[in-house]
Amino acid sequence: MKNHSEDSLDPDDWTAFRAQSHRMLDDMLDYVEHIRQRPVWQPIPDVIRQRFDEALPQTGTDLTTLHQRFMHEILPYAVGNVHPGFMGWVHGGGTPIGMVADMLAAGLNANLGGRNQMPVEVERQIVRWMRELFQFPDSASGVFVTGTSMANLMSVLVAKTATLGTGVRQSGVQNLDSKLVAYTSAEAHGCIAQAMDLSGLGSAALRRIPTDDQHQMHTEALQAAIAADREAGLHPFFIAGTAGTVDVGAIDDLNALADIARDQSLWLHIDGAYGALGMMSDEVAPKLAGIERADSIAFDFHKWGQVQYDAGFLLVRDGSLHMQAFAAPVAYLRREARGLAAGSPWPCDFGPDLSRGFRALKTWFTIQAFGTEKLGETISHTCHLARYLAQQIALHPALELLAPVNLNIVCFRYRCDDADHVNREIVADLHESGIAVPSTTTVKGQLAIRAAIVNHRTGKQDIDALLCAVLAMGKARCT
Ligand SMILES: *Cc1c(COP(=O)(O)O)cnc(C)c1O
Repeated sequence: MKNHSEDSLDPDDWTAFRAQSHRMLDDMLDYVEHIRQRPVWQPIPDVIRQRFDEALPQTGTDLTTLHQRFMHEILPYAVGNVHPGFMGWVHGGGTPIGMVADMLAAGLNANLGGRNQMPVEVERQIVRWMRELFQFPDSASGVFVTGTSMANLMSVLVAKTATLGTGVRQSGVQNLDSKLVAYTSAEAHGCIAQAMDLSGLGSAALRRIPTDDQHQMHTEALQAAIAADREAGLHPFFIAGTAGTVDVGAIDDLNALADIARDQSLWLHIDGAYGALGMMSDEVAPKLAGIERADSIAFDFHKWGQVQYDAGFLLVRDGSLHMQAFAAPVAYLRREARGLAAGSPWPCDFGPDLSRGFRALKTWFTIQAFGTEKLGETISHTCHLARYLAQQIALHPALELLAPVNLNIVCFRYRCDDADHVNREIVADLHESGIAVPSTTTVKGQLAIRAAIVNHRTGKQDIDALLCAVLAMGKARCT
């Protein structure tokens, strides 16, 4: 007799299912263990893309077939950020521990919106650890979100409600006496402007302050902009500093920003998407001085923290202001003193999400398994590799460094007439070669090959392979 309902979606034959599951696990362990033997990336053949244009299936397919399709049609054509040769954009590499932890989380299928359950306590443990890491008070709150784009948006919403009072949640921002304005560096991530847009305040209310030769926000220009806006009858409310810019890895002078925010009574938010977890590295932490004075910090465990996607996080100094921006009393989410509906406040009180996955578990496993020392060493190592790459570039007359190397990002190019075009072609050649995957950006108007070294697997040999390939491709392209 079957030990489950006829209509259940569970397997009929658990023994066969178990064997098949173990094969799937083994395949993924093989993938990670032997990742170096693969190209970093390869183009998707048209026939494979077309196979994903089939009609909605009405009947089922057996798991073994689906697994084979995954192995042949999906796995080989991913972005490649698990690979040590991946240096594009700012992507973390993940770990085998995070991978199996994610499987445990999937098995539990926990909904972390709230309620009296241990998974929520795991998330609270991470909140306490992050308070400790950033020297925030016990009254600080934190919540997992998809990524820093979402966390930055939420910080604008918390600061807006803190500035205007909770009444704005009903009245909206349509009839404000004076318009709210915010400030960030010209090199800030695009999601800061998007956060202003999505919050209803409008991206035009974001002042993009110029940067200096170290790519840090010009603090005098910031003060002048605030003064000019006050003069014009506007209401300055928010500064978004950056700890690790996407283009070159610059960290704003966070203490100077904290002084200005304090003197001007503005909310200081730090976009520390990848840089903030540099707090775990002896080498990077001193550069983040002042981050402990912020009102809120957004960051991603899925970048330098090497946790599997996605694992963004928002930390807010004043937990009550955080909650006042989002909490909403509704009957079906009533809190009780005991039973499963106890344990208020819940994570859903700190953001727009009600149903939420167990992102905290893969993060808890990663931090527990390695400790902050080891994770910090891998962060330092990526910075050492970036300096090594910069040294090699300086030694080679065909190459040119385009920005100072402050952390783990190196912007450079092959010297040539029509350099923008040639370097863009070199990067596409590199992608298609499967040897290394940097990305491009524009630094002071010039197209740069941008190597963002984030993956803990990347070593000196991968930097050498990148250099060697850039030189060969540059030579071939630049005639
Ligand atoms: C990656 C990044 C973001 C966006 O974070 P997501 O997790 O991709 O949403 C924002 N700011 C900076 C500085 C980043 O590096």
